Amino acid sequence: MTGTNAASSLFPTYGRYPVALVKGQGSWLWDDQGNKYLDFMCGLAVTNLGHVPPKVKDALVKQLDELWHVSNLFHIPHQEAAARLLTDNSHAEAVFFCNSGAEANEAAIKLARRYHQKVLGTGRYEVITFTKSFHGRTLATLTATGQDKVKEGFAPLPAGFVTVPLHDVPALEAAINGNTAAVMLEMVQAEGGVHPVDPAFLQTVVELCDKHGLLLIVDEIQTGMGRTGKLFAYEHYGIQPDIFTLAKGLGSGFPVGAMLAKGKLAEAFGAGSHGSTFGGTPIAAAVVQATVETIVGDKVPERAAEAGDYLRAQLRERLGGNPFVKEVRGQGLLIGIECAGPVGDLVTAARSQGLLVVTAGPEVIRLLPNLLVTHEEIDLAVGILAGVLEGQAATAQ
Ligand SMILES: *Cc1c(COP(=O)(O)O)cnc(C)c1O
Repeated sequence: MTGTNAASSLFPTYGRYPVALVKGQGSWLWDDQGNKYLDFMCGLAVTNLGHVPPKVKDALVKQLDELWHVSNLFHIPHQEAAARLLTDNSHAEAVFFCNSGAEANEAAIKLARRYHQKVLGTGRYEVITFTKSFHGRTLATLTATGQDKVKEGFAPLPAGFVTVPLHDVPALEAAINGNTAAVMLEMVQAEGGVHPVDPAFLQTVVELCDKHGLLLIVDEIQTGMGRTGKLFAYEHYGIQPDIFTLAKGLGSGFPVGAMLAKGKLAEAFGAGSHGSTFGGTPIAAAVVQATVETIVGDKVPERAAEAGDYLRAQLRERLGGNPFVKEVRGQGLLIGIECAGPVGDLVTAARSQGLLVVTAGPEVIRLLPNLLVTHEEIDLAVGILAGVLEGQAATAQ
């Protein structure tokens, strides 16, 4: 028996596939039975450079020989260098390192409140978010998340969050009040079904933030690090968020998160105001440094844009006549195939044919290949998906 264990000592928090993966390289994974899989989910948008990317691995191995942990009571040269790389490649001027996406969003929410309360003296604290968003699983970030399923059984939820429907300008305007500190959103709602934000709506959000003195927070945890064809997805829209957050692809599979902001926000996080024991350890920082150097140096976002165009074109060509397929959408290599019914069984069928994909809500198949995926690998994946979806269309008739 592989992957499943009735006598597991773990909390049953996850519905796990009956597969135990034990080795990975580039776009490929192997399970403990020797089966090989083409990976089009990347551990949920994490291994953007493929499994065990050589340059990041070399940096990690080198650092393992030198130093693991000292605490943020000391200067950490790799942390400074990693932060400098991120600010050199964005409009941000200050970086805070942490260990996960939820923790990065917590930092963003705390920074927004503290800036309003300690720097501007407005006392504002409320954050407006949108339906179908996903911002994490801590108490604050699940409250910010616009999906009821993540909140069930966790009442009372923290105060200071309002959720309005995405793309609903009157609802957004009505939600803004004297306590509003920030608006937080994703450029493509990924967990919520692969829904890109409408550019005109985003411009209105930016205008409303300017008009009312609100901070704009962009959650780039899934869309960042080249995934959508730009280093950060907000670049597609020509905007400059006050704060944005990273995690998933930032460490190529090593757990790390970061919160980045414009310089005016730096003084709100003075000494002692926020912290994390493991945030930006020498190991984590060395990995981030190598990851960002590789993504920027090897023009990985450009490659993701090209591969994404090719993948969407192939999907539209092969799935175009399929009555079960409603829409192929997304940006770069964050792609959703919206179907006319539940897709859970299709994900299982694809896996049994050696292709790993994941859902985004009950009726959307989400494709998240690594950003260096080849056309040959894309052709292989599209062939498997087309076959699985043809079978579904035939059964549905
Ligand atoms: C995954 C994700 C998070 C949460 O990240 P964790 O590392 O699981 O805490 C937050 N926001 C978005 C958009 C995500 O995709």
